[in-house]
Amino acid sequence: KDEEDFVIPSELEKNYEISKKVLGTGSFAVVKECTNKQTGENYAVKIISKRVIRGKEQMLSTELEILKSIKHPNLVSLYDLYESKNGVYIVTDLAKGGELFSQLLLKGSYTERDAASLVRNILEGVAYLHDHEIVHRDLKPENLLFKDESDDAILMITDFGLSKILKSQDEILMTACGTPGYVAPEVLLQIGHGKPVDLWSLGIIVYTMLCGYTPFYDFIDNLLTYDSSKRITAREALKHPWFSKANNVNIIET
Ligand code: ADP
Ligand code: MG
Repeated sequence: KDEEDFVIPSELEKNYEISKKVLGTGSFAVVKECTNKQTGENYAVKIISKRVIRGKEQMLSTELEILKSIKHPNLVSLYDLYESKNGVYIVTDLAKGGELFSQLLLKGSYTERDAASLVRNILEGVAYLHDHEIVHRDLKPENLLFKDESDDAILMITDFGLSKILKSQDEILMTACGTPGYVAPEVLLQIGHGKPVDLWSLGIIVYTMLCGYTPFYDFIDNLLTYDSSKRITAREALKHPWFSKANNVNIIET
């Protein structure tokens, strides 16, 4: 139904051929591949429904302000922008190699040698953002994209939807946001946060790249719940499916 309401801006249709192929979806957007009719170059177009982001317009304008102001090989940058009654269409670099998330699922894990160059890519992008007083706040393997399909493809950071531009170097952010599993404790505690949250997320990303799973996956997460009233009890924990992995010989029936 929502798709039917979408009228692609005529200028966008004039300049780009939009592929049916969906590159990815996130919490707010659908991203498709498109081709510039004049140059034949391929790009990505992030389509955001105005209805879906109603009440969160500030987030979109911050995302656009950041996209317009950044230029770095490890950051997805803006090419073109269109707007219709129902949607906003953000044309950016195409990252042909897809998400680090998908590669991680395929590979299982990375060697330290392979991880090191990718982590350096992420850090170069983060350092640039921080130098420009931008905090990303949603670094995770779904928002890290390979520029191309080659074995030595570089990583590019995308999705500035939760990012913040600091008004001063010591501005403290308060709004809780991010993705469970990657979000820093100071964000959840709502005691004020800033640039360091991106380094925490990177820590989780590096762990995940090397091990193939996040340090807070399911079972452990339940034990490390900050709010003690919500923390798993010993009886609940014993019922967790993780124990099906245990060597049954050691289980003493009572
Ligand atoms: P959201 O704000 O809804 O999370 P994202 O910007 O993260 O949207 O885009 C959603 C997904 O679309 C990404 O996780 C990725 O798989 C894909 N995607 C986004 N931008 C690009 C791009 N420039 N090139 C290729 N795929 C992309
Ligand atoms: Mg995203």
